[in-house]
Amino acid sequence: DKTMEAYEKIYKLHELMETKTVADLPGPYKVGVDLGTADVVLVVADEAGNPVAGSLRWASVVKDGLVVDFRGAMLIVEELKAEVEERMGITLDKGATAIPPGTVGRNALACGHVIAGAGLEPVCQVDEPVAAAKALGITHGIVVDIGGGTTGIAVLRNGELVFTADEPTGGTHVSLVLAGAYKMPFEEAELLKRDAAQHRRIMPVILPVIEKMAAVVTAMLAGQEEYHDYPVYVVGGTACLQGFENEFSKAFGRKVHVPPHPLLVTPLGIAMFG
Ligand code: ATP
Repeated sequence: DKTMEAYEKIYKLHELMETKTVADLPGPYKVGVDLGTADVVLVVADEAGNPVAGSLRWASVVKDGLVVDFRGAMLIVEELKAEVEERMGITLDKGATAIPPGTVGRNALACGHVIAGAGLEPVCQVDEPVAAAKALGITHGIVVDIGGGTTGIAVLRNGELVFTADEPTGGTHVSLVLAGAYKMPFEEAELLKRDAAQHRRIMPVILPVIEKMAAVVTAMLAGQEEYHDYPVYVVGGTACLQGFENEFSKAFGRKVHVPPHPLLVTPLGIAMFG
């Protein structure tokens, strides 16, 4: 069905990125750039939304949904663009970006300026959870995007976006708690957290943060009883934690679904808007 098809695309994108290869699919191509708190991801998709190529760089150019290192972000997008262009043997000239739902004013324009500075004409800017919903092929349901700095949600009803919300909590808070508990620098805690072999050991320490995230999402949906039976999908890098699906479901009081490689879902969705 549709979900399986979407999951296949995400698996494929992950494989293309890991092997630094290109899918043999004809153009025209669409480009998406996700500027995040913890990483920058550039994805190329074909007209049908199939992944063609992608590249990721760990970097902190965004904080709480705001671009804080404009020049650094621009240079990274330039590098990722050059890398993917070299792999594909073509030039990429335009692309889409995304922002957390609550971003306003100049901050909302910053992502477009960043990719323009890197040589990609910005064609479209979407809300991050809306991009995630697109990648998952969801027209009816709730998408929760837990990135590094922000937790955003989008509710879709019959293909229409009916509700969005955004709060500044995310994977950064998980790392801060780890840094405190194990008395280590933040950067070290980030690496510890991204090591799947450590997830079982660190879960008891970070469980309160996951519970807090579930409480944040519950508060966002307070008074919106009509969505109580909508399927819930959680994406974003924080959902990569082993056991996350189970613990978040328990704390949220509803079964949630975590797709494969949740870190890549929003970037793929952004490319689909390119
Ligand atoms: P935001 O949208 O909030 O600006 P972002 O776009 O950087 O942030 P994502 O790329 O979805 O968000 O997720 C980044 C977060 O996921 C970081 O906190 C990072 O430490 C965490 N993360 C990445 N990989 C893993 C992993 N394997 N296990 C646990 N956490 C991970």
